[in-house]
Amino acid sequence: MPISADFEKRLNAVLPRAAEHFGTPFHIYDEQGIEENCAAFNRAFADTPYREYYAVKANPNPAVLRLLAAHGFGFDCSSLPELTAAALAGAVGHDICFTSNNTSPAELDAAVRLGVLINVDDETVLDKLAARGEVPDTLCLRVHPGNAAGEAGASYLGDPQSAKFGIRVDRLSVVCARARRIGVEHFGLHMMLGSGYLTPQPFLLSLDLLLEQVETLHRDLGVLPGFVNLGGGIGIPYRPEEKPFDLPALGAAVGARLRDWELATGLPRPRLLFESGRYVTGPHGVLVTRVLNRMSKWREYVGVDAGMSALMRPAIYGAYHHITVPDGSDRRHEVVDVVGSLCENNDKFAEQRTLPIVTEGDLLLIHDTGAHAHSMGFTYNGRLRPQELLLRRGGSVERIRRAESENDYFATLQCRPDVLVPVTDPVGVR
Ligand SMILES: *Cc1c(COP(=O)(O)O)cnc(C)c1O
Repeated sequence: MPISADFEKRLNAVLPRAAEHFGTPFHIYDEQGIEENCAAFNRAFADTPYREYYAVKANPNPAVLRLLAAHGFGFDCSSLPELTAAALAGAVGHDICFTSNNTSPAELDAAVRLGVLINVDDETVLDKLAARGEVPDTLCLRVHPGNAAGEAGASYLGDPQSAKFGIRVDRLSVVCARARRIGVEHFGLHMMLGSGYLTPQPFLLSLDLLLEQVETLHRDLGVLPGFVNLGGGIGIPYRPEEKPFDLPALGAAVGARLRDWELATGLPRPRLLFESGRYVTGPHGVLVTRVLNRMSKWREYVGVDAGMSALMRPAIYGAYHHITVPDGSDRRHEVVDVVGSLCENNDKFAEQRTLPIVTEGDLLLIHDTGAHAHSMGFTYNGRLRPQELLLRRGGSVERIRRAESENDYFATLQCRPDVLVPVTDPVGVR
C-alpha cells in the first residue's frame, strides 16, 4: 500500500540528498512511523494484560529493535544470531521468547543460559532439557494447529499434516505432565496459524483453541497456563485496494473474549502475548533504488540497481510491493517490468506494472520493506545486500548498516587450514 502521507512527506524532504550522500540502493526506515505504530499497538490492547514480542526475523537491525524495546516490546527469536540481536537491543531474560523449531543443542544451551522464555516446539525438547538437568521454571508449549490453519485460510503452514510446528493437541496433556515432573512450574501456550491475515477472525480462532486447552490442562492436571501467545501473522495491506488490519477491533474482541471466558469458567484469564513482525515495521520501510537501464524487448524493462538480494518477496511468493516514482505523478504512464540484475528471470520487483515513465537515473521507491525484506536477502550470484538507513525524528538520516562489500563475500574463505586425510585400510594395503 502506498506509504503513509506523513512518511512520504518526511522522506521526500531528505530523499535527493540522502541518495546523493549514501548512494543507492538502500532501505530506509521511519523512526516516527515505527514509534507511532508501537504506541497504537499498545493502545489497542491497553485493557488486557498483554505484551508484544517482536519477531526479530522480520527486521533484526538492533537500531530498529531498540525503538521497539523503548515501547516495552520484547523479542521473539529462533536462532543464535537473533538472540544476539535482541541482546544488543537491551533485552534480557523473559524479554525474549525463543520460538525455535528443530532446535540444536547449541541453541537450547544458549536459551537456558540466557534465561529466555522457551517455546517448546516438540516433546523431544523436554527430553533434552531433562538430560541437561537444568529445567527452566517456566515453559511455553507450542500447540500444533491441526486443521485450524486451513480453516483460517491464508496459512503458511500448508495442510495440517505438513505443518512442522508444535505439539499435537492429543499429546499436550502428556507433555505438560512430563514437564511438571521434571520441574517446570509455570506454563503458557502458543499457536500460530499463518501469516498475512487482514481480519481478526484467525486470531480469535486460535485464542478459542488455546483457551480450550487451558481448560483441559486445568481439568486434567490442575495446571493453569498463565499466558497464551497468539503468534505473529497480522497482515499489512501491500496492495492499495486492501484495507488495513483493524487492530483496535482485535484488541476489543480479544479483551471481550477473555472476560467472557473468565466469567464462564471461573478461572483467571491468561495474559496475552503476540509475536508480530510484519505489522509492526513492514509499512515503515522503503527500498530506494535508481534506474540503471531502460530496455525494450517484447516488454518494456526498467532495470534498477537493487534486486532479490534486497527484497525477495516478489520473486519467491509472487508478492505485490507498491512502487512509486518521486515527483512522477505528472508524467504519462506506461506498463513495465521492474527488474534487478540477477541471472534468474524471477528477479523482478514488478511485472506488467503501470508506472509513470522513468528514465535512467530516476529514483524508484519500493514500499513496505520494513519487514521480511533486508533480513531475507541472500548473496546468490554475487549480488550483495544493500545498506539500511534510519530516518530519525527531526529529519536526520543515519546509516544503521553498511552495504555488504566484496570483502564480506570472500570473508568466509579466510579459514584455518584443515585437511582430513583418507583413512588407509590396513587389509587393502596388504
Ligand atoms: C514468522 C513468525 C512470526 C512473525 O510473523 P509476521 O507475519 O511477521 O507477523 C512470529 N512468530 C513465529 C513463530 C514466526 O515463525
